[in-house]
Amino acid sequence: MRVAVIPGDGIGPEVISAAVRAIEVVADDLEMVTADMGLGAFQRTGSYLPERTLELLRDVPAALFGAITSPLSYDASYRSPLLRIRKEFDLYANIRPVRRLQPDIGMVDLDVIIVRENTEGMYTGVERDIDGGVVTERKVTRRACERLVDRAVRLCREQGRKRLTCVHKSNVLRRSDGLFREVFYERTEGQGIETNDMLVDAAAAALVSKPRELDVLVTLNLYGDILSDEAAALAGGLGFAPSVNMGDKLALFEPTHGSAPDIAGKGLANPVAAMLSAAMMLRHLGMGEKASRMERAIEGTLSRGNRTADAGGRLGTEGFTTAYLEVLGSL
Ligand code: ATP
Repeated sequence: MRVAVIPGDGIGPEVISAAVRAIEVVADDLEMVTADMGLGAFQRTGSYLPERTLELLRDVPAALFGAITSPLSYDASYRSPLLRIRKEFDLYANIRPVRRLQPDIGMVDLDVIIVRENTEGMYTGVERDIDGGVVTERKVTRRACERLVDRAVRLCREQGRKRLTCVHKSNVLRRSDGLFREVFYERTEGQGIETNDMLVDAAAAALVSKPRELDVLVTLNLYGDILSDEAAALAGGLGFAPSVNMGDKLALFEPTHGSAPDIAGKGLANPVAAMLSAAMMLRHLGMGEKASRMERAIEGTLSRGNRTADAGGRLGTEGFTTAYLEVLGSL
């Protein structure tokens, strides 16, 4: 099976190289084709998203992506390559599992998956002037809600998760969030999973005060963005948070963190988020056992005290990866 690997900029190449080494030893039958994207790609080829990369993405079921850096100087013609990919491949669900991997990492014992709408809502950024201010448009369609909820139901089934919670603010946004809530109950009825719904403010509090009552959350764009960053911070930080942008034909797996220009090139980056994203990719491709092996090895590496600097340790990317490979070999 063939997948694309897009290291990108900043710490992207460092964590992706570690993730590739982490996968290679468990799935040597996977063909990983490297492709270019981001600021470095622009400097090398004159394009932030070279045509060859797009062609490759049209041809593979999954891609592992690092991070990209936006250009510093203002460039009116700049369009984020990631947004282009999301649009062109209709990657409508952003899925972020957040789990505390060790008791001394992070602050809260979380094990949640956040499924976030990725194509409409607040972040389409449609704003217009009105007398004395600005109006922001926020679109919620039945179709987007339906396919998002269906995706979340499928995820619960595939991963044996028990409860799906719809997170919204329909006490205020009665029509838009009301529609989302209504669709949620329509699509989950008779699906054999426990369901409930929560206001977004209550969900933000529950992540801290009742974390074990939360299992899988399905929510709209803005709420999902904020809740998943909150959850990641509670469970250990960005260095441990994997994600996927999922469409029907392509799934783009990536660590939640950005290109971290402040530590790029120093060999300090925590590769766990990228490694966990790689494991998620294997599971998506039907290699669940190999994914579980990777996850066990990551946890085993951490449980033996191996830590990068962001988690209070002394190891760099290379040191952590070497420790992981040793643990994997001993499993
Ligand atoms: P971008 O604009 O590309 O999102 P950013 O610096 O605004 O970049 P992040 O790249 O997510 O945002 O970084 C936020 C902070 O977290 C930085 O201080 C960065 O060094 C740290 N950080 C992010 N990812 C990691 C990682 N994998 N390992 C260690 N530290 C990280």
